[in-house]
Amino acid sequence: MAEKILEIQEVDYSYRADRTAHEHLALQHISFAIHPGEIVAFLGPSGCGKSTLMRIACGLLNPYRGQVLWRDKVVSGPLMEVGVVFQQFALYPWLTISQNIEQVLIPRGLNPAQRKQRVSEVITLIGLDGFEEAYPRELSGGMKQRVSIARALAIHPELLLLDEPFSQVDALTAETLRTEVVNLWRDRERYPQSIIFVSHDIHEVVSMASRIMVMGDKPGHIQKVIDNPLAYPRDPRSTSFQMMVEKLHDIITGLYLPEEQAPTIATIVSSWSGAFSMVPLPLVEVRDVIGILEAVSARGGNVPLFRLNDEIDTTFTSILLATKGAELLGFLTTPEDHLIMTDIGKEFMLASKKMQKQIFKNRFVQLNLFKRLKDMLERSPEGRFPRQIFLEELAIHCPLEDPKKLFRILINWGKYAELWSYQAAISSVVLVGREPVPVLDLEEEANP
Ligand code: ADP
Repeated sequence: MAEKILEIQEVDYSYRADRTAHEHLALQHISFAIHPGEIVAFLGPSGCGKSTLMRIACGLLNPYRGQVLWRDKVVSGPLMEVGVVFQQFALYPWLTISQNIEQVLIPRGLNPAQRKQRVSEVITLIGLDGFEEAYPRELSGGMKQRVSIARALAIHPELLLLDEPFSQVDALTAETLRTEVVNLWRDRERYPQSIIFVSHDIHEVVSMASRIMVMGDKPGHIQKVIDNPLAYPRDPRSTSFQMMVEKLHDIITGLYLPEEQAPTIATIVSSWSGAFSMVPLPLVEVRDVIGILEAVSARGGNVPLFRLNDEIDTTFTSILLATKGAELLGFLTTPEDHLIMTDIGKEFMLASKKMQKQIFKNRFVQLNLFKRLKDMLERSPEGRFPRQIFLEELAIHCPLEDPKKLFRILINWGKYAELWSYQAAISSVVLVGREPVPVLDLEEEANP
């Protein structure tokens, strides 16, 4: 049997918000083991209990039922062998960077000389040289998160636990930090042996994890376990990487579909027009969907995906997203990795610009997400809706997507179909034909 570092056995956890409230079951029947040399990701919608599970895994919370074992011994308090990095930077503002790192070594019984040596070692390892005497307020978000990582590594952890560690830093810094963490782990001579981390970002999960636990909610549970066999170092531009992203996306999509069928795009479209479903819209602009249709049309309406990838000057991800968009609208089908134009797709390509918008609109209002938003707008007395409410709807219905990006795409698709527009002045989405009368400012009125 494979060696286990950490084991979670049949764990339940519930919160009681206050004395009068009912217990809220946050986690139920959670069991898994972490082995040496693994990076395990926990992926799931917001509120499904990922953070609670991480706190249980490192001994900060005691399970309500079940138990946590560290190397076969029952855990009863914070685990000294686990280095922890949470989403918030949580550094003491009144201590320097060196002192912040040193804090975690005191309870571990290291003497001042040993502590100094450890601090200087991780400062170099994590690229913080020159910042030893700086205070947290002097550092950017990315640098603060480096300090949190350095602090977690200073204890020479066997297991590193990261709870959405890169969600508060910019995309480029996040990418660099991810690579650095994976490189540290690959150098097994050192530490950590294994990593567990929480994410809601499919790309991040594919780039880091060797095993992926997909979580569901109400109450939080592990819904599916997926192995990610891609070799390290991983190249996000490689075809195998893109395929893994696609696979994971499809698995997640499939988990949320009401039917038990394989989640082909056709079933997604039909389920959208039926009951509520969480299938997100691919983050792709209409012009890119039209671009892919033009490329397929120029190749006789039928082309292998990989030939198209070789022939057109864009990334594989952009091709996949545009294909997904065209498929959702029913303009393309993709049997056996071929892109084939449907009859409606051909009709679209031959139509005038005006007719194209009409065909697009007819297809697009059949998708449940749009139908829902269109209904919301039509039911509102002024034919408009605040952006914030849209964003909240999107966060609830498409929890694995970035609501702001999805919002932009949704607005642009609706704009193209001449269904709605976004009025920045009132931060609202407005139905076409119901735009507010522009308010003249007084000076203009006085001097027409
Ligand atoms: P995630 O990390 O997946 O977003 P959390 O573990 O933070 O989820 O929360 C899981 C559930 O438990 C949520 O419904 C949340 O509202 C609830 N919860 C989390 N912390 C507390 C708390 N301290 N008291 C009451 N409920 C909580």
